[in-house]
Amino acid sequence: MEQLLAIVDDEPELGRLLCDMMAKEGFQPLYFEKGSAFVEYYRRHPDLNFLILDLLMPEMDGVEVLRKLAELDADIGIVLVSGYDESVLHAARRFASESCLNILASLCKPIRFPELKQIFSSLPVSTMEKEPGMDGCGELSRLELQRAIDNSELRLHYQPKIRMRKKQLAGMEVLVRWQHPHLGLLSPKCFIPLAEKEHLVGQLTEWVVCQAVSQLYGCRAEFDSVTIAVNVSPQAITDLSLPEQLTLMIQERQLNPLRMTLEITESAVMEELTTSLDILTRLRMKGFSLSIDDFGTGYSSMVQLHRVPFTELKIDQSFIFAMKEDAEARAIVESCILLGKKLGMTVVAEGVEDQVTWDLLDEMGCDIAQGFFMAKPMPFHQLNNWLKNSRLPAS
Ligand code: C2E
Ligand code: CA
Ligand code: CA
Repeated sequence: MEQLLAIVDDEPELGRLLCDMMAKEGFQPLYFEKGSAFVEYYRRHPDLNFLILDLLMPEMDGVEVLRKLAELDADIGIVLVSGYDESVLHAARRFASESCLNILASLCKPIRFPELKQIFSSLPVSTMEKEPGMDGCGELSRLELQRAIDNSELRLHYQPKIRMRKKQLAGMEVLVRWQHPHLGLLSPKCFIPLAEKEHLVGQLTEWVVCQAVSQLYGCRAEFDSVTIAVNVSPQAITDLSLPEQLTLMIQERQLNPLRMTLEITESAVMEELTTSLDILTRLRMKGFSLSIDDFGTGYSSMVQLHRVPFTELKIDQSFIFAMKEDAEARAIVESCILLGKKLGMTVVAEGVEDQVTWDLLDEMGCDIAQGFFMAKPMPFHQLNNWLKNSRLPAS
């Protein structure tokens, strides 16, 4: 069946040109000169598949159209187009994804047709982008998750963190999965929110820490000198007993807290700043390293960043993915590296997927890199093989 595509642009000539071109690509295009006319049409025809939306329009601008679509819970693949500079496109794109709209791409004017064609030809037919790994999450219950924790249905995968200059293993991030008896291997995104809602994160973190320590330490000399990085959920850093609980857990296994890094997302810290400040300071005093994860997405100010005793700054992968092609993302990454270093933190880039990105980060003086280019997260039994065969990037 032909895909329905709406084109909203106040320049009729460009609109017509786009219609002709997209019709040749097998779409059924509909042109709207005004945002309001499109919104009215969409209310009556929510089965439209795609939208090419100009941001700068005199009557109802593109951002307002996006807001209306969000109110309507629109399920439509959107390509944003703008004559403004890239930062406006970024802001609009961010607004749209925070409103749960499905943005396929954003393009600067003048539109290059091959680029536009490429966006649509790389889409699986009639599909919308979905959260990776969310397929097949199914309806999960508290009972099932409790059973998974009790009966060891959870699995750990490890992803190496690599010291860029020395090309050495610096640490391992521990990432949890659930081997569900019917649904297969589930991503943490499927069940961490449930664990938080049902107050099971404490038990889950305990299981993760104990399992990681017993798998990694004492089995291979390479692992004894590296740090284990564990993700701590936002809810856990509101639990005042967390520092004592974690210390007890690792003391029982004779592990020095210096060997453990706790990764906490920037947004989690900012949400509960007062409580988290207390807990994070005590964790640091007990010797744990603290990493601020997904940095750049949580709106922390310099002052706040300085008040929390972080030892590591982990730049959000969205900037790392984009830095190869996008000068603004590159500038953000460079500033994060400078800021982290000035504040005496180790800087980590997550989501390194190719040599070009590795080289750029290396030039900028980033300390540690992590990503599919060097190693994907893997089960424990594959780590030995990876250590033997890994050829770390050249630079
Ligand atoms: P995160 O802490 O930001 O972890 C990084 C995620 O990015 C991981 O996804 C990892 O597989 C993925 N990743 C790493 N390098 C690359 C790359 O080069 N390219 C791409 N495309 N992806 C890359 P994963 O394992 O699905 O974990 C998702 C999130 O779930 C984690 O984000 C973390 O917030 C949470 N999580 C994982 N394990 C735990 C846990 O034990 N406890 C808690 N509370 N949260 C966890
Ligand atoms: Ca992490
Ligand atoms: Ca991250």
